Amino acid sequence: MAMAISAIADDVRHVKEDNPFESMMSRFDRAAQLLDLDPDLYAVMRVPNRELKVYIPTRMDSGRIQVFEGYRVQHNFARGPAKGGIRYSPDVNIDEIRALAAWMTWKCAVVNVPFGGAKGGVICDPTQMSMGELERMTRRYASELIDFIGPEKDVPAPDMNTNEQTMAWIMDTYSMHARHTVTAVVTGKPIDLGGSSGRREATGRGILFVVNEAIKKFKMTPPQTRVAVQGSGNVGGIGARLMHEAGYKVVAISDVHGGIYNPNGIDIHEALKHLQQTRSFEDFEGVEAISNEDLLELDCDVLVPAATENQITSENAERIKCKILAEGANGPTTAAADEILHNKGVFVVPDILANAGGVTVSYFEWVQDRMGYFWREDVVNERLHDTMVASFNDLCRYADSHSVDTRTAAYMLAIDRVAYDTRMRGIYA
Ligand code: GLU
Repeated sequence: MAMAISAIADDVRHVKEDNPFESMMSRFDRAAQLLDLDPDLYAVMRVPNRELKVYIPTRMDSGRIQVFEGYRVQHNFARGPAKGGIRYSPDVNIDEIRALAAWMTWKCAVVNVPFGGAKGGVICDPTQMSMGELERMTRRYASELIDFIGPEKDVPAPDMNTNEQTMAWIMDTYSMHARHTVTAVVTGKPIDLGGSSGRREATGRGILFVVNEAIKKFKMTPPQTRVAVQGSGNVGGIGARLMHEAGYKVVAISDVHGGIYNPNGIDIHEALKHLQQTRSFEDFEGVEAISNEDLLELDCDVLVPAATENQITSENAERIKCKILAEGANGPTTAAADEILHNKGVFVVPDILANAGGVTVSYFEWVQDRMGYFWREDVVNERLHDTMVASFNDLCRYADSHSVDTRTAAYMLAIDRVAYDTRMRGIYA
């Protein structure tokens, strides 16, 4: 059995450590082997259901047309409509989107929300585009996907460099074609347009909830816990702020250009205000400058990589000093680094749990849109809390009972759930 799986796996795998698809596949293979997954189920689950590539003609402000390339990978529908964000970046590529789509499937299964996984991306540099250009590109991208997305099919959301405005444009474009307003086609919308209270903060808040549970295992309390956060966007910035408000000592934070460090703790409200006003952490008083690489290696209790993929690799994993690694980004740790961290005794809260707060509240948003009845923010936050804590406990129990690390346990738990549903539905082959 194990051999059959390896044989199938070899022909789809690239062997580059920084390929996110490779990182995802090697964990998937290991979990599948440990679960003794049926080879037919393995063959179905190892590949996406559908991959769309679209060309997006966009009228630029100059009057000329530029054609952008975009993707939407729908990885799995076994448990419900596909779900996942859309990112805009010059680095977008199909392997990355494929990996991110699969991670959405496993993430939704870990927190047990009734969605499959998908991801989209457009190769573009949003920092060089005007709002008008972004709007026209977004609307044309949405119209190219119109037959493939929808509340019962595939529900996009924000990801890197996309936001509530992007979702409002997609919702509007879809609705214009449908001839009526369809709020549930995307999540992460503005609150007044069918968005959910608490969605913007949900990923950061989810991280706070799992870190609160993880520190109990080390008998630590928030004021004794030093936290380093890489990233200050929707995940890192909000996560750091909520942890600061919860009494944690946030000793470092960064953005793409670099970070700041103070072993006695940073006033995160002031630091984020400075970042917003000056677009940089530079010249913020009472801290040392630190590079993004050095931030990862700081002496701290909790490390939250909340920026991008491939930050902790076989090259630097040995030098990571945190007790708890709470992965805010998708895929911040390569598969090759897993064993090194495990041998060092780092407690990993894997991305497919740690950052699942976002999609959990996306699920709540989709439910509210379909009901047409909206919940108070404290209700959203309480339900998010219950989901994150229950999933954290499920994961720890699963890791203990199967004698595996938490990363492997997360994949096993997710694959087990998706495999069960696939087997019960039967493969239409
Ligand atoms: N882009 C987010 C993620 O990677 C959210 C996806 C969603 O809410 O559908 O989890």
